[in-house]
Amino acid sequence: MLACSRCPETYLDDARHWCCTCGGPLYYRGEVAFDRGAITGGPPTLWRYRAALPPLPRGQEISLGEGFTPLVTARWRGHEIHFKLDFLCPTGSFKDRGSTVMMSQVARFGVGRVLEDSSGNGGASVAAYAARAGVACDIYVPEGTSPGKTAQIEMYGAGLKIIPGSREDCAAAARAAAETTYYASHNWNPYFLEGTKTVAFELWEQLGWRAPANVVTPIGNGSLVLGAYLGFSQLKQAGVIETLPRIFGAQTESCAPFVQAQDQGLDHCPAVEKQPTIAEGITIATPTRDRETLAGVRESGGGFAASSDAEIWQAVRELAALGIYCEPTSGAAPAALDKLMAQGMLADGPTAVVLSGFGLKATAKVVELLAGEAP
Ligand SMILES: *Cc1c(COP(=O)(O)O)cnc(C)c1O
Ligand SMILES: [Zn+2]
Repeated sequence: MLACSRCPETYLDDARHWCCTCGGPLYYRGEVAFDRGAITGGPPTLWRYRAALPPLPRGQEISLGEGFTPLVTARWRGHEIHFKLDFLCPTGSFKDRGSTVMMSQVARFGVGRVLEDSSGNGGASVAAYAARAGVACDIYVPEGTSPGKTAQIEMYGAGLKIIPGSREDCAAAARAAAETTYYASHNWNPYFLEGTKTVAFELWEQLGWRAPANVVTPIGNGSLVLGAYLGFSQLKQAGVIETLPRIFGAQTESCAPFVQAQDQGLDHCPAVEKQPTIAEGITIATPTRDRETLAGVRESGGGFAASSDAEIWQAVRELAALGIYCEPTSGAAPAALDKLMAQGMLADGPTAVVLSGFGLKATAKVVELLAGEAP
């Protein structure tokens, strides 16, 4: 069953609904329960946690071997930090966690065509898993999106629809088209969110069956932060961890609606302006699941922190100097970590930092930034 979080409406667990008639985002509500005994062997992918995912007959996974990404411990400002290399998913970003679970359900429903709007990693990920499923796919991108960003989408064989106007115009065009096909949106689709929660299960398993004390991840719309919250909540319900880790969302000062909400004590994100930034994957001015994300982060005892482009680039540089090459968007997380450490916001115990996208995704940007450093 799918349930609205903002009104009492529920919907059948099928292919028709991506959003409530009231406009609220939908959540999957099913008989999923985390059970350590049910963790299966087999290939090291996130499907080992299938008992805690929406039911799917075995063998029907639309999978490219995603998940179970390395957890690398490195010294950062004198502390041992656990960096989760989620950029080593098949398309180069954590979005594959959501796409594999979403496209597996889409294929099960017998949907033959999907669409998504994204100029970046979400579009590439959905396009890849649609290709894997043999499902036709259109990706709507705003006019002016650089060819460097759309090349990966095109390579997977998706139809690229270039929409004149802003990112918001593009989303509106996608939603209008979704009246007649399936909206496989990484922001709206409830099954996508079910996939992102596996990052919590992996951290727990990789840290020796215990939760970290703190988790820091970049946040745009919130699927990674909210996924982590949902995953750790299920581990707590199952009685295998006692407390949630503090969950922190890392933003860019160029677009920080969650930080604004936190500072103003709001239960939703206020309207914000967005400025150009190197962390383009997290410049989301109106996050879809803002209320649920704010509530979850608050319950965890975590919070939000924003960094400048200079701080983010510095963090990307320093991580690379440790052998870890993430894209600038992901650099928001270690940059936020520095602030959280300085402010004494972290709980005692292991700290995990999720690195969401691969440095190789942003070669053109990195070339530019390196050139800008030259004396
Ligand atoms: C999409 C994305 C994010 C943000 O994820 P949300 O679900 O929008 O919060 C962060 N980093 C990278 C690399 C991304 O592609
Ligand atoms: Zn509703």
